[in-house]
Amino acid sequence: MDYLPIFLALKGKTGLVVGGGDVAARKATLLINAGAWVNVVAPGPLAASYDNLSKTDRLIHRREVFRPEHLDDVEVVFAASGDDALDKQVYEAAHARHLPVNVADRPQYCSFIMPSIIDRSPVVVAVSSSGEAPVLSRLLRARLETLIPAAYGRLAALAGRFKTPVRKHFPTTEGRRKFWEKALLSPIAEMVFAGREQEAEHSLTKMLEASDTAIGVGEVYLVGAGPGNPDLLTFRALRLMQQADVVVYDRLVSPPILDMCRRDADRLYVGKERDNHTVPQDEINMILVRLAKEGKRVLRLKGGDPFIFGRGGEEIETLREHGVPFQVVPAVTAAAGVASYAGIPLTHRDHAQALVLVTGHLKDGTMDLDWDMLCRPRQTIVIYMGLKGLVTLCDQMKKHGMPSDTPAAIIQQGTTLNQKIVTGTLDTLPALAADAELKPPALIIVGSVVSLHTKLNWFHPEPAEDDHWRTPLDQPATM
Ligand code: SAH
Repeated sequence: MDYLPIFLALKGKTGLVVGGGDVAARKATLLINAGAWVNVVAPGPLAASYDNLSKTDRLIHRREVFRPEHLDDVEVVFAASGDDALDKQVYEAAHARHLPVNVADRPQYCSFIMPSIIDRSPVVVAVSSSGEAPVLSRLLRARLETLIPAAYGRLAALAGRFKTPVRKHFPTTEGRRKFWEKALLSPIAEMVFAGREQEAEHSLTKMLEASDTAIGVGEVYLVGAGPGNPDLLTFRALRLMQQADVVVYDRLVSPPILDMCRRDADRLYVGKERDNHTVPQDEINMILVRLAKEGKRVLRLKGGDPFIFGRGGEEIETLREHGVPFQVVPAVTAAAGVASYAGIPLTHRDHAQALVLVTGHLKDGTMDLDWDMLCRPRQTIVIYMGLKGLVTLCDQMKKHGMPSDTPAAIIQQGTTLNQKIVTGTLDTLPALAADAELKPPALIIVGSVVSLHTKLNWFHPEPAEDDHWRTPLDQPATM
């Protein structure tokens, strides 16, 4: 290690910043965030980036040239005047007094260097490349930002409130460590992240009173996995995927996404293919209840958004009836994701002011849709699960007054490397789709916005070698 990371206690102390520009303002901001007072020494006016800081009563601007007396009664010194000779002079004066000093971009004039910071106070993560590759540490910081929930600080604060009672219950360090490990990995943490702090506090109290580490019922995370491309997952989805004990997923969840779940989590395939529901919905609902009652954190992972043609509502109704806690994580639904990746804006001032999402799922071979509502002008219609009924769809729309040259597209495996787009009109699409041998999942978009595809198409993937949507046939749906 070239540098020893330490965390300075600066609350109520004073820091000196020499310089009135943007870089100096960033240092002043950090000091103020750490609860310090700031003396800024700069003969000229301060840059606009100081504006917000100047409004606080924590910053004093001395319109003077730096003198060693400015170091009196300060705890830490930053120099970023932009004048090398002056910065060096600040360094030498501070160094002579053994004050910690940092000169921006001049490692040779630094007794300490500044890390990239992830602030989830009271949790603070500092990342440094020892000055070798600052951009790399910023990139690493960005990755950590995605892993550490915004509410992490609230979890730490909750743990802080329980510090004394836990110490009473568990006199040994080992006992306390075990308790906290279990508590912080239990659904209690997720309760805090989901804003249910009182419930978390209550559960923690109960766990403590039981003086053991037993956790009653688990929790179900109903998580949308988006339309297939792992880049489109939400941070929240990814976090829950990486901590669930068991993953219950269906056919639309692409293998690359499944691979991002916790390695040692049990996986249970309850896939659904049209007309061939592998596990009936009622049974899926009860599987979720059973697993949660075993105390497990259950990830119910669904393609797209769970509340859009995802039967997520039914699943959580059952959970509610059985008193199983749950939370829902929204996701990019196929219409939004697939349309974006196909360069088809779903609304556009010149084309469509309304958007209708419908399912084209055939029930007993027929399609029960409100055709008059669908066939109104100046709107875009997106049809989920419509591949099999494509001929009927196009026929009915024409029958209900839609011009037969209305642009229409069908997109298979949108957003993924295997995305395939066929465009045509209500007249031509069925034959074109048949020629292209499209297979599910495929989405149909009807409306004048489809004509924009030729101009706006931006995603040109090279097809992946293997089929990312293969059905995991070899995984039995029993546990
Ligand atoms: N809850 C999901 C929809 C489930 S219904 C969501 O919000 O997206 C399943 C249908 O979604 C498929 O038949 C298909 O019409 C559509 N779909 C899902 N992912 C798709 C993709 N990547 N490309 C094309 N269509 C997709």
